[in-house]
Amino acid sequence: MSEDSCDVAVIGGGPAGAATAVALRRKAPALSVTLVERTTYDAPRLGETLPPDVRLPLSRLGVWEGFQRDGHLASRGTSSCWGRAEPGFHDTWLSPWGPAWHLDRARFDERLSTEAFQQGARVLRATALVDSESLGRDGYRLRLARGAAGPVTLRARFVVDATGGKATFASARGARRLVSDRCFAVYGAFTLPGDAAFPTHALVEACPEGWWYSALLPGGRVVVALVGDGDSLRGLRWATPASWMHLLKQAPATRARLDVCDFSGEALVAVPVLVGRLDRPWGEQWLAVGDAACTYDPLSSQGIAKALDSALLAADALERCLRGDADALQAYESTLHSRFQAHQHTRGDYYRQEQRWPQSPFWKNRWEALPAPAAPPAQLRRPHSTEVNP
Ligand SMILES: Cc1cc2nc3c(=O)[nH]c(=O)nc-3n(C[C@H](O)[C@H](O)[C@H](O)COP(=O)(O)OP(=O)(O)OC[C@H]3O[C@@H](n4cnc5c(N)ncnc54)[C@H](O)[C@@H]3O)c2cc1C
Repeated sequence: MSEDSCDVAVIGGGPAGAATAVALRRKAPALSVTLVERTTYDAPRLGETLPPDVRLPLSRLGVWEGFQRDGHLASRGTSSCWGRAEPGFHDTWLSPWGPAWHLDRARFDERLSTEAFQQGARVLRATALVDSESLGRDGYRLRLARGAAGPVTLRARFVVDATGGKATFASARGARRLVSDRCFAVYGAFTLPGDAAFPTHALVEACPEGWWYSALLPGGRVVVALVGDGDSLRGLRWATPASWMHLLKQAPATRARLDVCDFSGEALVAVPVLVGRLDRPWGEQWLAVGDAACTYDPLSSQGIAKALDSALLAADALERCLRGDADALQAYESTLHSRFQAHQHTRGDYYRQEQRWPQSPFWKNRWEALPAPAAPPAQLRRPHSTEVNP
């Protein structure tokens, strides 16, 4: 078994990990960085709507020009039927940062990974972290699986966990995820015939079981997701699309815009949706970034932008830490925590705006779990959420 070494090993080549590798190499070219990614970016990835101001972190990472050449779809913003049946519209027309975006997500992630390589990082695709051994202040020995090429070990002075919500490395080091909310999303795909028109804005539509999301992607693919929880979707079966289609027919705005589309026939995909954070996003010679550190509600469409922002923060903190700044990682944790708290209050405000189904388990569960507003109106006051371990 061969053993390589590097200053920083970044585990996970999604937006957070790839952006951390890019930012580190740009900030501290003397540091050797290895980016380890389990996939080859061939399969479709979920999470595709970006707000206009994502242009800021993409510019700081030096990938904005390339991003614009990658065929992502410019979007006029988001329409929502939330709190009432009539749609409201958040138009990006006057945004100083230009349009919102609907991504070819796999291409987006691959672009960042390729940029990491071009900035001098070593990029190992189709390679997964299997386990790790602490070497104390010298860092870690990581065991990596590389398919047919056989296992390798990698020594790293510092490890960045960017493995997404599972936080594989941080969990193995004893960090625990504090879950504030737990839902799941059931995705289906439609196709748009070549001559049909479809609005470029994403649509969010609340329903008794939760909320629907739909968006046109590059290439005429339309993704449609129902986000609900274990109570609101209990007993529904997803092996065939019948139940999902039945609920879709009761969401008038979403159903209407899909009239011009054909169901793709692909199997539905159910994915967990957790809002939460690690109890500590760093430890001896490691830190967590992106979803590994904290996950936002997909209702906000902020997950990827947050992943990029936290990558820039992490690269800065890590570089300072390796130069001997003992407070750098604590400051990183404080910034992540205050942003997560702000997100919790914003999502609380949104969920409280929807009052049409007071007896529905989904909405009751949300109201009971959300943090109280800063100055709550008496009729909306709900119990404070307590973060719970899964
Ligand atoms: C239903 C749903 C809808 C969403 N919609 C949106 C949206 O519209 N807009 C938005 O901005 N955000 C959205 N999000 C959130 C967004 O997808 C995430 O916040 C974002 O992907 C976080 O990026 P990341 O790099 O931290 O993690 P990930 O994107 O999860 O990347 C983790 C990477 O690590 C790799 N990896 C995992 N384990 C290992 C291992 N052991 N070894 C090596 N590699 C490993 C994975 O292959 C992957 O590439 C949505 C999330 C959900 C659940």
